[in-house]
Amino acid sequence: MKRIMITGALGQIGCDLVTKLRQIYGNEAVLATDIRMTDNDACQSGPFKILDVTNNTSFYEIASEHRADTIIHLAALLSAKAEHDPALAWRLNMGGLLSGLETARELSCQFFTPSSIAAFGSDTPKKGTPQNTLQRPHTMYGVSKVAGELLCDYYFYKYGVDTRGLRFPGLISHSAPPGGGTTDYAVDIYRAAVSAGRYTSYIKEGTFLDMMYMPDAVRSIITLMEADSTKLKNRNAFNVTAMSVDPETIAASIRRHIPDFVLRYEVDPIRQKIAEEWPDSIDTTASREEWGFDVQYDLDHMTDDMVSKLTQKLQTGQTKIS
Ligand code: NAD
Repeated sequence: MKRIMITGALGQIGCDLVTKLRQIYGNEAVLATDIRMTDNDACQSGPFKILDVTNNTSFYEIASEHRADTIIHLAALLSAKAEHDPALAWRLNMGGLLSGLETARELSCQFFTPSSIAAFGSDTPKKGTPQNTLQRPHTMYGVSKVAGELLCDYYFYKYGVDTRGLRFPGLISHSAPPGGGTTDYAVDIYRAAVSAGRYTSYIKEGTFLDMMYMPDAVRSIITLMEADSTKLKNRNAFNVTAMSVDPETIAASIRRHIPDFVLRYEVDPIRQKIAEEWPDSIDTTASREEWGFDVQYDLDHMTDDMVSKLTQKLQTGQTKIS
């Protein structure tokens, strides 16, 4: 990766990824794009352009002008929002992906886009979910992620585009707020714990889901993009995860810092139903064997960092109850 273009750069992943890529490759080499503009660092610390990814002409022109050799395509509608507007989810998740893949084909770019544990379904084995298994999701987000994995494979086999992808679990971070996914509770719980000492979870006790801390997620993208192409058998997309947790497990980890932390429940049936379709814990053998990836943060290590960073933000007036 030398000249990188990122779409959806102001989202939860993009904010942290842009900062890290600019540290590694230099500010000018990393073009951040999004459909909106904010005072976020991703807009201020290097080149930034407004781009609606469903506009394939603009996608191509902006990538071409930047002389991009790598496209990291993050713009998408996440699981909970996608269930509220399935038609928009299909248009954005598939239309945007097609614009990105066509641009990558025409400009000979390496191409990355994340899939998700949502690409599995209720028939998929829930524990130790294999890399290659049954994928019949019942959510529009999941359907778009399976179709996306297949479309990226197609561009590799048909046109030789160097497409790569990861099936991310729920991602936890303290920089940008999450964008409307089912696992957002696992971010909100930390913000609420630090600012109010209590949290009401919309996900039921005992619902186990895979999660990963954002520094590991960012490192996984960069490591996969730098990996030896000839060793990648499962390029779209690799299972990655760090921990399998339910709300009580996270609360117990938080109570090591905030002993009086109170966790209550008010279950949201839509997000609970989505969560119950997803695996409890996925198998990451292929990531370890094909490109040597492993995570650095377990639950307690992540909690220590989240509580410390959010406490600092609270003290400087940068955070509030979610
Ligand atoms: P996010 O919702 O936080 O950010 C998405 C960004 O896309 C936003 O900044 C939004 O403004 C932008 N956007 C929306 N419509 C657009 C359009 N038409 N054109 C251009 N930009 C547009 O999402 P995220 O959490 O950063 O996720 C990025 C990718 O990672 C998505 O493909 C998502 O499915 C995947 N993923 C995320 C998680 C997670 O826990 N965050 C887990 C699994 C997979």
